[in-house]
Amino acid sequence: MTEEKAIEYLIEDFGEEEVSKWQERNHILSAPDVLYYADAYGDLEDAILLQAWDKTLPERVHKGLLDSGLDIFEGVNTNDLEKMRCPSCGSDMWEIEIYSGSNYTHREWINDWGDVTGDFVEFVASPDDYLWNADPEEDHAPVLCSACSHDAHYDFPRRKADPGYVAVHYGETDEISGFSVRGNLVRWDFEAYDNMTDLWVLPGGHEGLPRALAESTLTDWLDSHNWTEIAFETVRKAAYQGIGRRTLEREYKRLATEWAEGDETHPDLDFTYVIDFSTFGYPSFFVNDAYRDALLAEIIDLIERRYSRSR
Ligand SMILES: [Zn+2]
Repeated sequence: MTEEKAIEYLIEDFGEEEVSKWQERNHILSAPDVLYYADAYGDLEDAILLQAWDKTLPERVHKGLLDSGLDIFEGVNTNDLEKMRCPSCGSDMWEIEIYSGSNYTHREWINDWGDVTGDFVEFVASPDDYLWNADPEEDHAPVLCSACSHDAHYDFPRRKADPGYVAVHYGETDEISGFSVRGNLVRWDFEAYDNMTDLWVLPGGHEGLPRALAESTLTDWLDSHNWTEIAFETVRKAAYQGIGRRTLEREYKRLATEWAEGDETHPDLDFTYVIDFSTFGYPSFFVNDAYRDALLAEIIDLIERRYSRSR
């Protein structure tokens, strides 16, 4: 459709005075596009604001743009937006760029509910944000949608030893830290430490164990770094067979919880090990092959001492 024809239709619908008001301000950049949005949403001013925007966006996104308070008339490269997905829930998201004068633009996100970037948006592109996407896919956005941003921290374990938590003991420095895994998101728990990422000494760094747990490739991670798992079954086979299974279970869980939780309650070992509450069932210990026997002996020693004291 030609400009002239589109203007004719607009005048028919909204009156000559109204249309020429916008023409005089040079706000009608493409009359056919304005007509398209005027037909879709019935309002001339909204149509002018949306005229340069991607027509394939869902209606809720168009409405969200109009309601956003952003100066969407100053959108940059708006006609063909790349659809991405929230890395947590998979809902559609688009990054938008708005010109704000003096050669400066700012970027915002909008999701398919029409929610626009607010203070609550969680960036999950890098571990520096302490919450990151450990299993990224090509179309994953670097931010969570507004709903997931809001819920993100509630979804993670509150306490150490809750399901999903992974405690890390650094033998050299005798420090404890931990992270938790929820789907493909990992949260680094850095309480009491200023810069926990410096302490990330497990094989593969932040892309090692957290990613293996998020991607369910733990066995590969253990194998390729000569680490091994000490599971409840390992302990059960090695422990004094006179201890009943229920007692052993109880003491094993108690020990794992105590060691995960406190500076005071974990043993003084000079090698690094991990207590994993994130996989299904009993907690497990991960340690370098070289220290497997020492860690297993420590676990069994404590369980047996408690067992004999209770008799
Ligand atoms: Zn989401």
